[in-house]
Amino acid sequence: MPIRWRLTLYNALAIGTILAVLGLALFLLVRHQQLSSIRSTVESRALAAADDLRVTGGSGGSVGVTLDPEEVEEFTLDGVFILVRDRDGEVLTQTVNPSAGGEGQDTVWREVLRSGEAASGTAELSGKAPNYVYAMPVRENGRTLVLEAGRSYNDAEEVMESFGAILAAVLGVAFLVSIVGAYLLARAALKPVDVVVSAAREMTEGDLSRRLPAVNPKDEIGRLAGTINVFLARLEAAFVRQREVIERQWRFAADASHELRTPVTAILGHSRMLKRWGIKDPDTTRRSIDAIETESERMRGLIEALLALTRGDDGAPLKIGKHDLGEVAEEAVETARATAGGRVCVRYAPAASDVEARFDRGRVREAASILLDNAVKYTPEGGNVTVGVSRRGKLASLEVADTGIGIPEDQIPLVFERFYRVESSRAEEGSGLGLSIARQVAVAHGGTIEVKSTPGKGSTFTLLLPERAPFGD
Ligand code: ADP
Repeated sequence: MPIRWRLTLYNALAIGTILAVLGLALFLLVRHQQLSSIRSTVESRALAAADDLRVTGGSGGSVGVTLDPEEVEEFTLDGVFILVRDRDGEVLTQTVNPSAGGEGQDTVWREVLRSGEAASGTAELSGKAPNYVYAMPVRENGRTLVLEAGRSYNDAEEVMESFGAILAAVLGVAFLVSIVGAYLLARAALKPVDVVVSAAREMTEGDLSRRLPAVNPKDEIGRLAGTINVFLARLEAAFVRQREVIERQWRFAADASHELRTPVTAILGHSRMLKRWGIKDPDTTRRSIDAIETESERMRGLIEALLALTRGDDGAPLKIGKHDLGEVAEEAVETARATAGGRVCVRYAPAASDVEARFDRGRVREAASILLDNAVKYTPEGGNVTVGVSRRGKLASLEVADTGIGIPEDQIPLVFERFYRVESSRAEEGSGLGLSIARQVAVAHGGTIEVKSTPGKGSTFTLLLPERAPFGD
């Protein structure tokens, strides 16, 4: 059952119960007032009539009882009747014929004679409706008489019948009005839900940029819509990130295949050449084997770079330990010097004091080697490459400065992209993966790489590591 109908039903039950209880209480109250008014009228008339009663005749003889006829009219207003009996129950005077009187009436006057005190009760006089009867002893001339006054409940019952009917009609209408009101209220209260539902239905999988409308952002439904909107925003951001990751992976896979195709094609070409002429021609054989070796080397380098990147992407854990960054830099300088083979001068400028930090030695050494290899590679013959370490606040820094070809300013942010190579450096061997790996190492340690470069003058790459890596052991 929809909530609006359930709300209406609960409201109807609650309002119905309240109206029924109120109606019953009101009915009983009015009835009580009607009956009390009858009783007090009857009692006051009995007292007044007793005062007015004239008894003639002595003890032993016949008794005469009279009431002033003018007064009687007043006593009997509103249908009150009065009658007087002697000790035997014989009616001496009456304003109504008690012949139809039942046992009830008997009981009341007998009760008065037995107890000697006033008594009241219900008696049937006309047979139509019960009467209220009030009887009291009257002592005159040594005789005890009983004066009875009574009034039919008939009028009160008629009043109550009409009152009951009107009350039921009023309460019934009130009940209907309140149910309709409850339904309209529930519908109005739930209207924003419909708005939200239809807006949500219009949302499609591909369009997460839509948001749910909040009619009143401060009410419950507005707050719910707000919360869902925040959730949608997060979902949208996650989807965008996911799409970016997938796109990057696709691009990466395409670029990697493209890069691998070149050496493979070369190897294949040389193998075919060998197959055709190589065996007979030792010169061709040697050249082809050399080329195959070089291309295979290149391919191995590329595959290793790809593996290093994938490992970094997978979030391979760092083997954190406390190390001297200067020592790592010196080692990398030794290797780079050997690679440079005297073409450029590679120099290590020792720091005044040890620069110790917590990092993964192997990976930082790899990053330092990449920066140094690039510096050597992109510095023309006779140039200089200087490496130094220092402390920059809470950071340990490894700086590689060269007097090489430099990088145009607009391309500086791009050199860290996978497979990106500056046009002017294409003459040199390279895959465009080195700096991506170096940056990945820095980021994994919670650090970064800064670049300053002037085309034609040289570049400075600075690897910055926090003293304590935030991740790892
Ligand atoms: P690779 O060196 O294999 O091409 P990298 O990712 O290491 O790839 O470098 C990306 C590009 O950044 C290089 O192709 C080169 O154009 C430029 N680059 C990197 N280091 C230097 C440097 N020290 N001097 C000038 N250009 C550099």
